[in-house]
Amino acid sequence: MLILADALLQAPDRVLRPGRFRVSGRVIRDVGTDLRPEPGEEILELPGVTLAPGFLNLHAHLELSPLHGRIPPALPFAEWLRRILSLLPGLHATARTASIIETSRRAAETGTTTILTILSDPASLAGLAGTLPRVWWALEFMDLHGDPETARKMERLAAWLSRHPGADWKAAISPHAPYSASSALYRECSRIAAELRVPLTTHWAESLEEQELFRNGGGAMRALLPKSWVPGLLEERFESLPAGSLIAHGNQFDDADWKKLSARDCWIVHCPTSHAWFGREQFPLENFRRNNVPVILGTDSPASSDNRNLDLRMEARVFLQNHPGISPGEIWSMLTTLPAKALGHEGRLGVLQPGAEADWVGWRTDSSADPFAAIVQSTEPAEVVSVAGRLHRPEKV
Ligand SMILES: [Zn+2]
Repeated sequence: MLILADALLQAPDRVLRPGRFRVSGRVIRDVGTDLRPEPGEEILELPGVTLAPGFLNLHAHLELSPLHGRIPPALPFAEWLRRILSLLPGLHATARTASIIETSRRAAETGTTTILTILSDPASLAGLAGTLPRVWWALEFMDLHGDPETARKMERLAAWLSRHPGADWKAAISPHAPYSASSALYRECSRIAAELRVPLTTHWAESLEEQELFRNGGGAMRALLPKSWVPGLLEERFESLPAGSLIAHGNQFDDADWKKLSARDCWIVHCPTSHAWFGREQFPLENFRRNNVPVILGTDSPASSDNRNLDLRMEARVFLQNHPGISPGEIWSMLTTLPAKALGHEGRLGVLQPGAEADWVGWRTDSSADPFAAIVQSTEPAEVVSVAGRLHRPEKV
């Protein structure tokens, strides 16, 4: 199929006009400005549309949309945690399943074609036949209350994925956070990540309260944890992280940590709307940049942000407000090529080029506008979304 549009955005400083590409099955074959239809070839004409690669969101909680607006913003983290722990038991598997389907669709309609989501209740996968975007399911583990049966549950996830080969789903693993997962659990998750060759992601250094727990064993967080729980050493957990781990948040690091993060090739997944929702201090972007630790953008959960649709454009806008010196090219890479690399899919996801997956988005834009700015500033759904060559046209209201 040949797709014809006004423009094609490969990067903010690389725009083809007109924008054309050819898809064969699920893969992009050719990209250019003067591609002509081959005999008998299907043509999709999209006048007034700019084509762009789909975004990748590497930190989300698709299950938790029903909790959006249930907790007020700007609470101390420990208090937020206490409230969400009281709400989670009321969120049943069927509501979680519906949330996964709906929220992933809305995210796709706002331009995100790949989501790595934390999966805290595997029962919410029951009966799920597909999602609009690609999903990496990061099965979450904690061991505050005994053995989480990590290996057995990961085996079951792998078996479930193998029964849905057409769904563009993959596995990942997630020890929840240092305050809820022991050093032994971190080691076990790292071992399994290496064995199954799946990404490992973890919440890390999100708040001052967590740091306090590990520095002096006390603080507001301590009261939320079982009395028998011994925090142990943060350092031990860090040492067990595999190369290329995805660290969600990373707001509170000590000076000694920057080099270690870089040496381990860690990725930081920063969630700007959640960061603002909690009223946190400025994200230490400069420290990561100085130490060559790549930062990418995620959304976190709708229970802790204003970003109900997990719209990465909103994350980019908030990030730009807080870090006005960032170039369009840098932001673009944080939404596309860098997260693709973090998942080991460089050149396959987050790009429109021959050999890449046909994960693309058609945006209705004013042809005289700067396409990057027009896309990031828009709050409208996309005109058309394609994941692995499957087309979806959002309903416009
Ligand atoms: Zn999270």
